[in-house]
Amino acid sequence: MVLAELGGSISRALQQMSNATIIDEKVLNECLNEITRALLQADVQFKLVRDMTTNIKKIVNLDDLAAGHNKRRIIQQAVFNELCKILDPGKASFTPKKGKPSIVMFVGLQGSGKTTTCTKYAYYHQKKGWKPALVCADTFRAGAFDQLKQNATKAKIPFYGSYTESDPVKIAVDGVETFKKENCDLIIVDTSGRHKQETALFEEMRQVSEATKPDLVIFVMDSSIGQAAFDQAQAFKQSVAVGAVIVTKMDGHAKGGGALSAVAATKSPVIFIGTGEHMDEFDVFDVKPFVSRLLG
Ligand code: GDP
Repeated sequence: MVLAELGGSISRALQQMSNATIIDEKVLNECLNEITRALLQADVQFKLVRDMTTNIKKIVNLDDLAAGHNKRRIIQQAVFNELCKILDPGKASFTPKKGKPSIVMFVGLQGSGKTTTCTKYAYYHQKKGWKPALVCADTFRAGAFDQLKQNATKAKIPFYGSYTESDPVKIAVDGVETFKKENCDLIIVDTSGRHKQETALFEEMRQVSEATKPDLVIFVMDSSIGQAAFDQAQAFKQSVAVGAVIVTKMDGHAKGGGALSAVAATKSPVIFIGTGEHMDEFDVFDVKPFVSRLLG
């Protein structure tokens, strides 16, 4: 279930409830069952969904609501608030400031969309008047530098990398130094990914991080893993100081809701979501506006 469908199902359930002549317990339960089904299909963890419906029932105590109360509005508001609660890690991330040099390091598994996301992140800021630059410290995957170079060239963003140097730490440090001298205010370091969470990957991340002292480490994750996002985000957080998460491929995957809620459960703020392969298919993630849009 892609996000639009998830939002559609929840909205439909609320609409059906709204259409009922009298809102009694049966109508409310039917509505909550529909919402539960939609969330479980989007791979949201069962416990989160169960807690959500319990909370809604507590808030919307139909017996206690006097006749004059607008039950529909109260239920809709409760659903909205509870969805926000599931997606809110209760923590903000470090936000770079325009004109003040920041180093942002990207980490994640191979195939997660890390390199694409680095360029999207740079492009997003460039459009807002920043001076971003990209450093390719991925010497593990053949073709990584070419890919970054191609993306960067398309977006007219300065880049740094090497075909001959095999030490990612040296490239990262040289790249950061180069762009600091050029007064770039957002220096983005793309690191290598592997297929699995291997010791070697985490060790390399730690070394690049130690050498470049990033202001922010962004963990990039593919939304198709759904609830498994919890374990993956935890594992990365334990190895390097992850300050924020970007969840990719929210356009085509059934488990996007599960991934977002699982990341929130690790108390990691999601700052953007990737919604396509193109440079501008990239949205700021802010819980309340996101849920509003989801519900249409
Ligand atoms: P990396 O190995 O983590 O650096 O991953 P890449 O940046 O090479 O991306 C892997 C694949 O995922 C590429 O085909 C990208 O075009 C694709 N991709 C990345 N982000 C998104 C997204 O938000 N939506 C979709 N549909 N595809 C994406």
